[in-house]
Amino acid sequence: MDDKLIVRFAPSPTGFLHLGSARTALFNWLAARSRGGRFLLRIEDTDKVRSEERFLDEILEDLRWLGLDWDGEPIRQSARFDLYRAKAEELVARGRAYREGEAVLFRVEPGRTLAYDDLIHGRIAVETENIKDQVLIKSDGSPAYNFCCVVDDAEQGVTHILRGDDHISNTPKQILFYEAFGFPQPHFGHMPLILGPDGSKLSKRHGGVSVTEYKAEGFLPAALANYLILLGWTPPGEREILSLQETAEIFRIEDMSGVQAKFDVQKLKWMNGEYILKLPAAEYAARITAQLRSDGLDPDHVPAERLAQAAELYRVRIKTLREFGPLADFFFRDDFAVDEEGQAKHLGTAEGKAALALFADRLAGLDEWRHDTIEALCRELAQEKGLKPAALIHPARMAVSGKTKGAGLFEIMELLGRETVLRRMKEPLT
Ligand code: GLU
Repeated sequence: MDDKLIVRFAPSPTGFLHLGSARTALFNWLAARSRGGRFLLRIEDTDKVRSEERFLDEILEDLRWLGLDWDGEPIRQSARFDLYRAKAEELVARGRAYREGEAVLFRVEPGRTLAYDDLIHGRIAVETENIKDQVLIKSDGSPAYNFCCVVDDAEQGVTHILRGDDHISNTPKQILFYEAFGFPQPHFGHMPLILGPDGSKLSKRHGGVSVTEYKAEGFLPAALANYLILLGWTPPGEREILSLQETAEIFRIEDMSGVQAKFDVQKLKWMNGEYILKLPAAEYAARITAQLRSDGLDPDHVPAERLAQAAELYRVRIKTLREFGPLADFFFRDDFAVDEEGQAKHLGTAEGKAALALFADRLAGLDEWRHDTIEALCRELAQEKGLKPAALIHPARMAVSGKTKGAGLFEIMELLGRETVLRRMKEPLT
């Protein structure tokens, strides 16, 4: 136990939460929770033009959605400009910084080597020769990122800074400020960036890059969190499906990977499917219902119980919650999407229509409307007429669902109810 460990996540609210930033937040949270430390939040909203309240709200919501909690209230850099200016003045007074118009710059002494042991990459050394004088306060009076970052990390007592490789070049500059103020220097660890399938940095070109988009697609938070963590840390043993709590029990910063990982949406989908299978029935139904509603497929005119049963029929067939709606639209509406090719194949022929008429006619007289009685009737009828059951099933499936594939036809028919099934089976015949 190291109860002095303090980490932080420091988002800039200039856009939605990127998957890479979400992973950074997850690892910082894990570092804290695995060692009884503190996980702080800092809002880096110094860019008044690009920072927006709606992005901040969405970022906080997405962090909570992923299952993360933080200690204390987040601090906001936009409320601390006076402090940063005072800190810069302190360095001017001590001859370490100078004014250039309205701006304040830090004087970098050449001829030194700045080195630190990166928690992930090992020793990193930079010559001050290669670092030009650093802006502390810009001419518009706003503080530069590297400067306020150090002022805040020191004040918040941050002991470990885990962030993306895109900040590797900032760290030596930040070390200069730690030295100048005599602040204790934290440990730094830089995580390799997430790459797209083509090996370049994951970006919009590769598809969705924000947590918001994956949430809308119907990924479960636990699955997305699990997947993102695996892009930077490998669990011991074979098991890959691990909850956040389980991960926190075995996570160690030392085990984080220095290798760039490719984002593989197929693997994420596989994992999401596994999480969907594990959801308790009531939660699964609630999530499916919420997804249908947010996708504009009005689930409310279908009785909740029937909807839940329909969703169960498709549980093994979907990898995201969003996939259910288009596969199962015929449960909620009569103007469901129709597979035109299947329609022509199974209902565009005289045999198809004849089989459908025969099946519908027989179903009208069925005593008890259940999937097993419907199935028995179908098999008997096929045998009686010297047909394969498929010759009855394909046209019927097209007529009642508009699809060539899906859950078992007899279960679908039971759930739709006799009246709907017969009405839909008669339509192609008129
Ligand atoms: N606001 C910075 C970012 O979003 C934080 C960098 C850091 O963690 O120091 O990249």
